[in-house]
Amino acid sequence: MQTRYSPCTLCPRNCGADRLGGKTGYCKETAALRIAAATIHRGEEPPITGSGGSGTIFISGCNLGCRFCQNYQISQEGLGKALSPEAFVRLCLVLQEEGAENINLVTGSHAVPALAAGITAARSQGLSIPVLWNSSAYELPSTLSLMESVLDLYLPDLKTLDPALGARFFHASDYPEHAQKSILWMLEKRPLRFTGAHRLVSGVLIRHLVLPDYLESTKTVLQWFAEKAQGKALLSVMMQYTPVPGAPGETGNPPNPGPGKLDRYVHTQEYEQVLAWLDAFAITEGFYQELVPDTGWIPDFSRFQPFSSDLSRSVWHWKEGYGAIAGP
Ligand code: SF4
Repeated sequence: MQTRYSPCTLCPRNCGADRLGGKTGYCKETAALRIAAATIHRGEEPPITGSGGSGTIFISGCNLGCRFCQNYQISQEGLGKALSPEAFVRLCLVLQEEGAENINLVTGSHAVPALAAGITAARSQGLSIPVLWNSSAYELPSTLSLMESVLDLYLPDLKTLDPALGARFFHASDYPEHAQKSILWMLEKRPLRFTGAHRLVSGVLIRHLVLPDYLESTKTVLQWFAEKAQGKALLSVMMQYTPVPGAPGETGNPPNPGPGKLDRYVHTQEYEQVLAWLDAFAITEGFYQELVPDTGWIPDFSRFQPFSSDLSRSVWHWKEGYGAIAGP
């Protein structure tokens, strides 16, 4: 499986980089698995958070590189530390010991071989909670199949179905094509299954972030969900778009001319329009956020506690390791 790193064809970017030889492609990562942080996170959707919180592992690098990414410090600026396979297994087991409901692998599309091996090893050493794939969906089913046997849940984004926006926001006009294929593949593999406590233990939860000024893109995504995924997946409509100071290409000066500078929160009228479309498309299975303009949840991965303490509890950090929680 490691050979898939060289030449790297793991994702639609198809860079061909010799990552085992220390080279990098668009994702800016070699074959070494690097992690930025691990937290017990309470900000995911209720059936993912449960009562114990989700055991999020933030992987360094990204094959998509949204220019408004809230996690740009780790996705595009390289914060993180290489972990050995043994250290990765320990991290999963510590999250489980700390009460995590699941292991939540965040943005690992460029690191599938290492993560598949790591979760397989962790399972053999006692990891028993569900494992969740939290991704942009800019992926290939042939790569996702390398992880299929170790994943229980999928949490893909469906960012847009407009190729022009894919090109503008992440240099990927083929994003809609690949995201649709990947999500349809996930729907086939994991039907929805809950425990009695309304925790999702198998299935797909599709996330869509509403972008200010790009409501037509949202409407298309909602229509797609109603036609292709209703009854097979949950939908999570996220209203939390926040301009992130310092993010590459962010706010006020878009690389291409267009209506949306992405320099503001979603307006109330836009929020109400999205809710009306949810009604119009009869989408009832899922979640939408309240409209609360707030920057308090934006993480800072230079700190041991990247998120506010009411949102998450840090377990491991790239600079400080386990800190006080589990010794050095
Ligand atoms: S995983 Fe990285 S190096 Fe490989 S094809 Fe994708 S962006 Fe390129």
